[in-house]
Amino acid sequence: MNSAAKERLSKVKAIYFDLDDTLCGYWDACKKGLREAFELNPISGVSTDEAVAAWGGAFQGFASDLKKIPHLYDAYLTSGSTTRKHQMQLTLEALGKPSDEFAERLSEAYMTRRDANLKLFPDAIDVLETLSKTYKIGLITNGPADIQNQEIDTTGIRKYLQAIFIEGEQRVGKPEKVVFDRAAAAMECSPEELLMVGNSLHHDIVPAIEFGWATVWTLRDSDVPPSSKTGKPEPIPTEGPMPDLIVSHLSEILPYLEK
Ligand SMILES: [Mg+2]
Repeated sequence: MNSAAKERLSKVKAIYFDLDDTLCGYWDACKKGLREAFELNPISGVSTDEAVAAWGGAFQGFASDLKKIPHLYDAYLTSGSTTRKHQMQLTLEALGKPSDEFAERLSEAYMTRRDANLKLFPDAIDVLETLSKTYKIGLITNGPADIQNQEIDTTGIRKYLQAIFIEGEQRVGKPEKVVFDRAAAAMECSPEELLMVGNSLHHDIVPAIEFGWATVWTLRDSDVPPSSKTGKPEPIPTEGPMPDLIVSHLSEILPYLEK
């Protein structure tokens, strides 16, 4: 780490974590949940691999279009159920097996199995426990209000969090500046007293750098959505703003922050 990055981390008073694939393994849970949902509810003539691939293909187009469909985005902010079912309808259509009723059943099974497979990374509690002794800790997470609150409770991290910003509750998500401004105000901190720890360059790291926060990018081999063509995590860019630190495990940040 260079001296400018060390200097930035030494000023930090409050730390915001992202949730999915920063504190817990969301894509792992998603892929296991999909497999189990399709195994419990087989689609005739379609293998589990084919079904998961079809879901990935449908997800890719759908995720990028979500905010362009106002009524769907509005429903998504409150509850993941509408878009989750819509996603399953698209998956069944892509497989030539459209069925509203079956999409509903698959969607419910997927949510239940995904939640059952959602786990914190092994060092997450230790890191939250240790850092919460010295720093104010918060969470900024994108996604529907119901699902994000469910994840916070499933993982048992609520007791460590002094401030929680959920896209669904705020009606706006990262990378929008207003989200980072609200988060800073909640901690009564100036930008240089804040650290963002997250797995997404686009949603967590680049905006936080732009708004003057210190940043730690978590980059793990497991951070691969089912829609990925490469099966590999996001590559480290060769240009553009860079985080103060890149880690593959959360505990790697402790030596830089323990006071
Ligand atoms: Mg994330």
